[in-house]
Amino acid sequence: MHIKDPQMVAKNQREICEKLGLKGRCIIAIEGINATFEGTKENIQEYIKELERDERFKNIHFKLSTGTGQAFPKLSVKVRKEIVSLHLGTCDIDPNQVTGVHLKPEELHEWLLENKAASAQGFGEPREFYIVDMRNAYEHKVGHFENSILPPIENFRDLSKVVEQISHLKNKTVLTVCTGGVRCEKASGFLVTQGFTDVYQLDGGIVSYMEKYPNEDFQGKLYVFDGRVVMTPFYTDDPKFTRQGGHKVVSKCDACQGQSENYVNCANPVCHRHFINCEICIAGNGGKSFCPGGCVLSRHGRKISPVESNLVI
Ligand SMILES: [Zn+2]
Ligand SMILES: [Zn+2]
Repeated sequence: MHIKDPQMVAKNQREICEKLGLKGRCIIAIEGINATFEGTKENIQEYIKELERDERFKNIHFKLSTGTGQAFPKLSVKVRKEIVSLHLGTCDIDPNQVTGVHLKPEELHEWLLENKAASAQGFGEPREFYIVDMRNAYEHKVGHFENSILPPIENFRDLSKVVEQISHLKNKTVLTVCTGGVRCEKASGFLVTQGFTDVYQLDGGIVSYMEKYPNEDFQGKLYVFDGRVVMTPFYTDDPKFTRQGGHKVVSKCDACQGQSENYVNCANPVCHRHFINCEICIAGNGGKSFCPGGCVLSRHGRKISPVESNLVI
């Protein structure tokens, strides 16, 4: 997609959303549009209809889910230079120009099925490919594709470091995955520019894969964001994501090492660290969560003083 007039599109988006009473955020850049809105079912359908009147948005991938009605306090429509900033300076790439081959969830499912058949029944040769998870470590921790590779990077902006970590895969088949496919547009393109020869990206991201094949190959829960507070994480309770019987917990409570996928923030406001804490440990702490072993760093990365380490909210 190529948007020549992002300001004009932003103006239209604002008008449509205001007319339909939608709240949420929308980012428009020359390379495309990325938005999350909340509204009534009818108004969201109306929005999709309005958007699809524009030829450029005909093939957009919409993801619909049931929400609380309170995910967003207001409407925010912004024009940005790019949708996902990688801060790569001159190496920065336009996903319309260079990007990995889009692999549909059905195709990945087929690849995985073939390999399962090959290993279980010795039927055919397994396809050699590597799934590289482009999400953050905390996202990967509670849910991931089996055997996927998580390059140890602090955040998405460190993408250039990924290349060092997976340089041994330059001549192999690499499939990048992320939550909704947006990060992979750039990440896969970046790998191509860095000399990776056979790069794919999961079309529509893990969300799309899980919509089609819940609890099949992606194990654990998918970490997603909502907008109640800036980027507050939550897990969707959509039964599609937590189908009875098929759901496997892959993460552990940071305090007791028991199975848990309950993300919390440390109750010390200076720390506020994001970690996994099970219900039993929380109950044992009077309903609060504290860093096991004491808080270490403030949310700005400063060392926490002994006085501050006793703060509670
Ligand atoms: Zn615990
Ligand atoms: Zn803490």
